[in-house]
Amino acid sequence: MELFWHRRDLRAADNVGLAAATGAGDDGADGDAPDRGPAAPAFVFDPNVLDHASDVRVRRLLDGLAALREAYRERGSDLLVARGDPRTAIPRLADALDAERVVWNRDYSGLARERDAGVRRALDAVDIEREAHHDAVLHDPDAIRTNAGDPYSVYSYYWKKWTDRAKDDPAPTPTAEGLVSADRLATAADALDAPGADDETVTDGGVGALPTPGDLGFAEPDAEVGPAGTAAARERLDDFLDEAVFGYEAERDYPAKEATSRLSAFLKYGEIGVREAYAATKAAMAEAESDDRPDDAPEQVEEYQQQLAWREFYAQVLFHNPEVVTENYKTYEEGIEWRDDPEEIAAWKRGETGYPIVDAGMRQLREEAFMHNRVRMIVASFLTKDLLADWRHGYDHFREHLADHDTANDNGGWQWAASTGTDAQPYFRIFNPMTQGERYDPDAAYITQYVPELRSLDADLIHEWHELSPTQRANAAPDYPAPIVDHSERREEALAMYKRARGED
Ligand code: FAD
Repeated sequence: MELFWHRRDLRAADNVGLAAATGAGDDGADGDAPDRGPAAPAFVFDPNVLDHASDVRVRRLLDGLAALREAYRERGSDLLVARGDPRTAIPRLADALDAERVVWNRDYSGLARERDAGVRRALDAVDIEREAHHDAVLHDPDAIRTNAGDPYSVYSYYWKKWTDRAKDDPAPTPTAEGLVSADRLATAADALDAPGADDETVTDGGVGALPTPGDLGFAEPDAEVGPAGTAAARERLDDFLDEAVFGYEAERDYPAKEATSRLSAFLKYGEIGVREAYAATKAAMAEAESDDRPDDAPEQVEEYQQQLAWREFYAQVLFHNPEVVTENYKTYEEGIEWRDDPEEIAAWKRGETGYPIVDAGMRQLREEAFMHNRVRMIVASFLTKDLLADWRHGYDHFREHLADHDTANDNGGWQWAASTGTDAQPYFRIFNPMTQGERYDPDAAYITQYVPELRSLDADLIHEWHELSPTQRANAAPDYPAPIVDHSERREEALAMYKRARGED
């Protein structure tokens, strides 16, 4: 028997490590029983990980775990759920199950790597085998390097290699025979729960019973976090690949349109495998080529594949540069002297800056634990280059409120906007929040969805909000604030701030 330890791969399908541990795909064609399996799936609530969690993400995690548990129950198995430091909990679970090997998929962030090193040592100390697989990305962070052997720091070059490389097919899904039965798991959970056992196991009398957010020290979030689990992820991807993907490049920047896949939280929690998602895009591309779709349909699908590659690009940036979580990737000679005005930062967080597209984005974040990509870029530019606030304030706020928060992507996005990242926006490229709103939300449909104070106004007036007089503003929308800063002035200050940092003044 083997123990499979789920972390950020909350799915049974297209799961490389799970497929190996359960002997999935080994159909006994050679007349022998599969070499591997059965495996017992487990999840451990790690206090160190919970220290970095948020209400939104705990809710999302619990929903993902509930869906995973269901998937196992449908196969006569279950999900063993424990709580504690994995360095003790994992060997104890393995021992209670009499497992000869523990299997997991690699997590590339710095903290996870430290944790895994600790678990490896703990298992070695008690002579239990362990095995780690590449699963979270199509090409692991070491696989794609420059011709000189260095990790890539420029996306366009990375993409060229990424897209040319052969990709693995989805991993086979385990059958009931490959999984340890629910009864056997319940016996193991009872043993762990027995009086005197020093490891706390969350069972609530049942092997798959999950804690509530309150049990873990969190509250129910105010935001609606959206559906979780493999079935919901597949439904979303299928819907997207049915139609929207063929207009992806043209439409993806318009936040009022449903033009993107909204797959990010599913990918973050690993509720859909990236090989499966990629294979589905290939099928859509083949359909685009054979159908009566417009000539550019395949390129539209390729543009979507490019986003999957951005995810892998940032994963390898974080893997090779774990310090970027707190430090600028690109250092400026003199360091950047951020202004960091607490009141301005607080107004940004509340969505009360008086710049409608910025406020709509910040309110979407609070309501839906999500924000459209174009708007993420706009609000991030506004925080760093209009409020001259350190990107880390923004990163921390996103980390708390995004359901799809992913250290690599979030950090990559923030450092891009702040012109401190690998393949960042040049420092002199400063978004004008009014023109961005006008261009990407011309009817103000997105803005008025999240900023009710502006609902009775014509789009033109909304896009001219910064130019109106105080009387005009008071008449038009008395409850909506005037712009808290003057964009043109702040633009000049930002340029001066970066030039000083570059030692150019
Ligand atoms: P789609 O357009 O449908 O893209 C498909 C998938 O590709 C996404 O689900 C995501 O996994 C990946 N992807 C798309 N764009 C990017 C990108 N620029 N970088 C990396 N991966 C990408 N994405 C996160 O997943 N988690 C984050 O915490 C996160 N924080 C961000 C912070 C800032 C400041 C910025 C500018 C971007 C951030 N992004 C983050 C990237 C992007 O905004 C989201 O992935 C995207 O909006 C999710 O919506 P979607 O699934 O509909 O995307």
